[in-house]
Amino acid sequence: MPPKLSFLSRIRRLMLAVALPGALSAADLQIEHVTIVSAERGSPMRDARVRVHDGRIVAISKSRGAPVSSNPDTNVMNGSGLFLTPGLIDSHVHLGAIPGMTPEQEAQHPDIGKAARDQIPRSFLLFGFTTLIDLISTPQEMALWKSHDVVPDTYFCGGAALMDGYSMNYAPKPQRYQAWPYMLIEPGTQAPEGIDPAMHTPRAVISRMRADGAICVKTFFERGFGAVRDLPVPKLETIREVVKAAHDSGMPVLMHANSDEAQRFALDAGVDVIAHGLWNWYQEHSTSSEVTPGIKKILDDGVAQNIGWQPTIQVLYGIRDLLSTSFLSDPRLSRVLPSNLIDWYRSPEGQWFRMSLSQEMKLPADANSSEPERVLNERFSPVLERVKHATAYIVERHGRILFGTDTPSAPTYANPPGLNGWLEMHRLIDAGETPAQIFKSATLTNARALKMDRDIGTVEVGKRANLLLLRQDPTQTIDAYAGIAKVILNGRVLDPSQLAADATH
Ligand SMILES: [Zn+2]
Repeated sequence: MPPKLSFLSRIRRLMLAVALPGALSAADLQIEHVTIVSAERGSPMRDARVRVHDGRIVAISKSRGAPVSSNPDTNVMNGSGLFLTPGLIDSHVHLGAIPGMTPEQEAQHPDIGKAARDQIPRSFLLFGFTTLIDLISTPQEMALWKSHDVVPDTYFCGGAALMDGYSMNYAPKPQRYQAWPYMLIEPGTQAPEGIDPAMHTPRAVISRMRADGAICVKTFFERGFGAVRDLPVPKLETIREVVKAAHDSGMPVLMHANSDEAQRFALDAGVDVIAHGLWNWYQEHSTSSEVTPGIKKILDDGVAQNIGWQPTIQVLYGIRDLLSTSFLSDPRLSRVLPSNLIDWYRSPEGQWFRMSLSQEMKLPADANSSEPERVLNERFSPVLERVKHATAYIVERHGRILFGTDTPSAPTYANPPGLNGWLEMHRLIDAGETPAQIFKSATLTNARALKMDRDIGTVEVGKRANLLLLRQDPTQTIDAYAGIAKVILNGRVLDPSQLAADATH
């Protein structure tokens, strides 16, 4: 039993922690004899000493002599044989809903909902993601997401969808107008009852987003897919105004665009980042998945414009794998999802999205046979080949690839938090990226694209102590992220056993 004094001091610590969440990270940290791997360095720095105070890196030097900290509470860690890197940034996630679960279903299963919402932030950390960007959110949703004790640093873009266009079309009317506070209403369009169109011009929307704390703008060019077709798309001049207003406010603009028509539009509008690989080649009338002259032109122009691309290849696998007969038995799932949620996914209710997709795609109905999976794989194969080849084309020309997963891209359970990032890395390797390129994309390139590189993205003095201690060099192998030794979040050291869903904590 601890003596009384220690009990009292624990109570005091607890009270401090309640009053000041930052108090948890207040202990100084000193890592000795570690190898620093960071994208701005030409080569790793060996045998380094890194000191952290108040959640920031305050000194980097060679490990010489005894530890120098004057603070007796300093946590001194031996980093021999380990690699210290910046925490990863996933620049494309959606955190509002539990993957695969509608809000109504969550309300009916509050115990599953609670377990899931406690676990999901930890799962991103378990795979090294210390910073997340939710591309369509609001201050209210962010507050809910951040209301857990261990959560990656999270930022958001406002979703500037065209009124009734993608992807606000999926919400019922009239609730969608409340759920999408930053929608755009173009001149000459009838505004919904009770909505003032003057509040939905590009400039009004951007200034409200910024006041709400958004760091970026998400726009869309999508005419629809599956059962949804002929959605309205914005005019070029509208998005140009969005870009101008956003840039005046220092915010980058990301555009959902995955077809040749949409990516050409994004280039013409001057957005900063295309949020998807180029997988729908509607205008090419080619049955081949080899990059055609028309597709090359779009990709060459994008590289010349230095546009950022998030290939998000896992989006497609997240749909395809819904029909897999083995996906829910993958033992890696139990690392990132609570067991009651995985059990629920197996239930008829939890299979709702798979069922609706099967009907929409007119797949064979027998869920117990492998036939639906085979048919879907066959249909997905050309699209998967196309995004792979388009991504490889960009990689070969040293285009600016950002790391983003779009987790989860749809109400699918097959884009599991954290793990999905590691799966995306495998897709990128398959498309020709090296581990070193992926590492840079997920740290410095992402930080720069989101204008956060003063704060994160490298291991440098002054930056936030969002760091990873890895057993392998991540510029040599992406396996480095599968068995992380420690995750450091704002100076707070987290052990994987505190983060994994199947570990006792
Ligand atoms: Zn998305």
